Amino acid sequence: MKYLDAFRDGAVARRMVEQLHARVADYAGQMTFMEVCGTHTMAIYQHGIRSLLPPQIRLISGPGCPVCVTPVDYVDHAVALSRLPEVVIATFGDMVRVPGSSSNLQHEQARGAEVRIVYSPLDALALAQKHPEKKIVFLGVGFETTAPTIAGAILAAQRQGLKNFFVLGANKTIPIPMAALAADPELQVSGYLCPAHVSAIIGPGAYAPLAEQLGVPCVITGFEPLDMLQGIAMLADQVLEGRPRVETQYSRIVRPEGNPRARDILAQVFAPCDVPWRGIGVIPGSGLCIRDEFAAFDAARRIAVEVEAPREHPGCLCGEILKGKVRPGDCPLFRNACTPENPVGACMVSSEGTCAAEYKYGI
Ligand code: SF4
Ligand code: SF4
Repeated sequence: MKYLDAFRDGAVARRMVEQLHARVADYAGQMTFMEVCGTHTMAIYQHGIRSLLPPQIRLISGPGCPVCVTPVDYVDHAVALSRLPEVVIATFGDMVRVPGSSSNLQHEQARGAEVRIVYSPLDALALAQKHPEKKIVFLGVGFETTAPTIAGAILAAQRQGLKNFFVLGANKTIPIPMAALAADPELQVSGYLCPAHVSAIIGPGAYAPLAEQLGVPCVITGFEPLDMLQGIAMLADQVLEGRPRVETQYSRIVRPEGNPRARDILAQVFAPCDVPWRGIGVIPGSGLCIRDEFAAFDAARRIAVEVEAPREHPGCLCGEILKGKVRPGDCPLFRNACTPENPVGACMVSSEGTCAAEYKYGI
């Protein structure tokens, strides 16, 4: 606890905020920094970081919550699979409440579908060992942090000769959508607070094209308030110096080489592919799809099922929220039809979704 307190020291925070105000005092423009990680979004709201910043610095949230960016047709596919009598859906908790076109997994569970909440893909593997009469379908969502454990579970299933373990894949990578958003002239991102855990896997070098080719400063930042303030100050310095580069504020966790072993497992099981992001559309090369050698474990290829035509909820602005173009309060459904108890859009479901964070902590 003492260790954590060191990153939450109020007096140090006040000094850092004063220094930041002084540093940008003569800057006439606007710096727009995007945090692309759901945990950063939560921390910004929880510690009121926006209210501490000088008017020259604006924070916007990006597409960093894996649940929020999962497209509606993926949820529809999972719902359709859950209706098959031989299928058990195994998933992380947040996914059961993400709205599909006409249902979600929680509703299907109430109607008799077998939906199990698991804490890791290995729990799903254990279910497959225990119930050979069932097809266990794990919902493979998440970025480079979760994808290696899913790849590990597929490798273990292959080693054990399991025939009833499947993954419905929607894994994604983070730097490619960051490049897509950096190229959007409407957003004018002046710098990225890069995700912490993802960076521990992919390493700082993965962001080099953003800084070198697109000229966008990048700082890998931890989750504590002082981490975030320091990360923002480092980004501001890069803007003032006009020298975009990749820096690591979170060096107590992130190594320059990342985690090569996790990346090897990823590359063994997954290949880059074009995938849709909720609200953003298809981003070429941003997905991690199961390689042909492991097709036996791919639910999409191995379990035939009819999926309804996708329909987004009219009025939901999740797509614009995920691109950082609007704030939750701009959505007419926010706090009215859409609440954490009754979410209309994905951004209100996940505890790391921007709408859920704004609902809980306000500005
Ligand atoms: S997994 Fe990565 S992107 Fe997702 S919340 Fe954690 S640090 Fe952020
Ligand atoms: S308030 Fe609800 S409906 Fe509106 S953008 Fe957020 S999640 Fe979507």
